[in-house]
Amino acid sequence: MKKRILTGDRPTGRLHLGHYVGSLESRVKLQDEYEQFVLIADVQALTDNFSNPKKVRNNVREVLLDNLSVGLDPSKTTFFIQSLIPEIAELTVFYLNLVTLERALRNPTVKNEIKQKEFGKSVPAGFALYPVSQAADITVVNADLVPVGEDQLPMIEQTREIVRKFNSLYGETFHEPEALVGKVPRLVGTDGNAKMSKSLGNCIYLSDTPEEVYKKAMSMYTDPQRKHATDPGKVEGNPVFIYHDTFNPNKDEVEDFKLRYREGRIGDVEVKKRLAEVINNFLSPIRERRKFYEENPSEVDKILKEGTAKAREVAMETMKKVRRSMSIDYFV
Ligand code: ATP
Ligand code: MG
Repeated sequence: MKKRILTGDRPTGRLHLGHYVGSLESRVKLQDEYEQFVLIADVQALTDNFSNPKKVRNNVREVLLDNLSVGLDPSKTTFFIQSLIPEIAELTVFYLNLVTLERALRNPTVKNEIKQKEFGKSVPAGFALYPVSQAADITVVNADLVPVGEDQLPMIEQTREIVRKFNSLYGETFHEPEALVGKVPRLVGTDGNAKMSKSLGNCIYLSDTPEEVYKKAMSMYTDPQRKHATDPGKVEGNPVFIYHDTFNPNKDEVEDFKLRYREGRIGDVEVKKRLAEVINNFLSPIRERRKFYEENPSEVDKILKEGTAKAREVAMETMKKVRRSMSIDYFV
């Protein structure tokens, strides 16, 4: 039997280059080797978007299209909608007994997001505890591997703790899942922020047009100390060079740019123009596939509907096991 992958995205916006290098690339690479499940996490998205459910709804399709456009094959990867798997909610309730409130609030990613979202003293309980629900997402298919960006490592750690506790209390039921961080653990934003994130508006989207990519590349944050093309510039931590390192297949060209940049022999404009080309080349086959699916909306609906039905079956099987382990398997 193949090992399983569970991973997913929040339908809070279209997916971007950060998602690609953090997680999507691994999904594409591993879809043959593993039985793969990709969750569209609408329940999790609602924890901080509960007052704007339409936004979440509209992005379910976008996120699926993004996943399909990078080359995920629906005959190998099962896509499903979180809210249509009530077993996840059920499992979450049982898991809530296995974490303390203190432990949940110590999660560094959650702490950071709470600050970023400016909840103040009104943190929705559902938001603070979403990693517990995420543990249920992962284990409801009894996943072995979770391809994610670095910001998700604390979630996987918390999942592993819950699994250990569950198994030791109720008997061996779940695998302890491993995280798999992508080629770039945390891609910086176009504004120089440590993370490209849909919520921060510093993204190059997989669905951006060539013109949008060009505009974004040209207005990217670089070395703030550098005023003229003849000033020696800083390459380390400079988002333009991080993107070149990540997406430019011509490594000699990148080294040449870096050398000349450090010595003040090349302007930002030239490096950025080439970056726009490089990213557009990278996005070109992604745009082609997206177009195909956009022109076949009934195919897209079918993928989601059939995937959700398949995931539901797996989830129901898992809950049978859970109920047996927890001695709450009445009337069977
Ligand atoms: P939100 O701001 O709504 O949380 P997001 O941009 O963080 O959106 P998610 O849907 O939360 O996107 O993340 C989906 C996956 O992509 C996760 O595995 C996450 O770690 C990864 N990811 C997101 N942003 C980046 C990034 N900048 N670099 C690497 N991986 C990323
Ligand atoms: Mg996120």
